[in-house]
Amino acid sequence: MSGRDDAAFRTKGEEQTVKAGVCAQEKETAHAWERNIRRVTPYVPGEQPVGDRLVKLNTNENPYPPAPGVRAALAAMDTADLRKYPDPTASRLVNALAGYYGLSPEQVFVGVGSDDVLAMAFLTFFNSEKPLLFPDVTYSFYPVWAELFGIPYETCPLDEDFAIDPRNYDRSNGGVIFPNPNAPTGRLMPLVQVEDILRHNQDVVVVVDEAYIDFGGESALPLLKRYENLLIVRTFSKSRAMAGMRIGYAFGAPKLIRAMQDIKYSYNSYTMNLPSILAGEAALKDEAYFKETVGKIVATRERAKKRLAGLGFTFPDSMANFLFLRHKTVRADELYKALRARQIYVRYFTGPRLKDYLRVTVGTDEEMELLYCFLEEYLGAPV
Ligand SMILES: *Cc1c(COP(=O)(O)O)cnc(C)c1O
Repeated sequence: MSGRDDAAFRTKGEEQTVKAGVCAQEKETAHAWERNIRRVTPYVPGEQPVGDRLVKLNTNENPYPPAPGVRAALAAMDTADLRKYPDPTASRLVNALAGYYGLSPEQVFVGVGSDDVLAMAFLTFFNSEKPLLFPDVTYSFYPVWAELFGIPYETCPLDEDFAIDPRNYDRSNGGVIFPNPNAPTGRLMPLVQVEDILRHNQDVVVVVDEAYIDFGGESALPLLKRYENLLIVRTFSKSRAMAGMRIGYAFGAPKLIRAMQDIKYSYNSYTMNLPSILAGEAALKDEAYFKETVGKIVATRERAKKRLAGLGFTFPDSMANFLFLRHKTVRADELYKALRARQIYVRYFTGPRLKDYLRVTVGTDEEMELLYCFLEEYLGAPV
């Protein structure tokens, strides 16, 4: 087993130790070709259980359907066009995004979900011997990409209230990435602090992952004019209710976007399929529907904060479509199991600072009512 394999196995908890044990046994019968297999500790996506009676609050999906225009655009699509490769530049979607956000098409990159866009950003921009910096509690895909692409990285601790401290990013590094609002905490960093990080890091690319910005945060978009090293990454998966379509995008200076395209075309040119391009374009046209559904989620979230505080939960003040909850007496893993037994799915992460918390996606009011109802019963009726 190479040093790299060892390191990958050592980073995780008990489960991995067990796996490493199994691996050690397997190694005795391993074939020579197996030694050449690249081994990584993969990102673990939230589960996608099937059934109609379950309440699914585990992967931050939007509880409402996409804009009605999306259905119309897909119905109007000529399936004969699927014969051809899609437009590698996805220009219809790029132009629609540029128009919507008041940018030029040269400032827009699109990909198969923001996971694809982020992976391309890691490959393109984090190419230094110095460490990439990101928060210790954040999107768990960042360390996975860093490991996969051989990018050195260091994490910066969040403070006791789960806030990012910009001063931690004021040191020599090979790049910076953080989500705003952060995941899985939901905490929003004020724009002045985002700018502070940019101001102290003008010699590297700074990526702001705005997967949840539409739920009440202030976007870094206006900073694009002043910082050519800023890349903003967004997605249709959350606020636009299209996780199943896999549409992600990024904004940045034309130089940054061109560099990402060069990497993308060297890897897989035709990433965005025709239905995604058409559906994405259609979604952007219905501003009223977008505002209405995002507004409903925000209202449900604010009601949830009150209800859950009343049930004995504490949480960072979320500006995303999820809440990061800790109960004052009941353990998170116990609650997770009890909820699951009732077909209510939420996300539970292991790890030193995460194991006391549950991440609960904001669903419809009806779904949230089922959650409160169960919690009231399980935790004992509030006095
Ligand atoms: C959901 C999420 C993404 C990825 O979303 P896609 O579905 O791949 O667009 C990226 N970053 C964060 C922080 C997320 O929570």
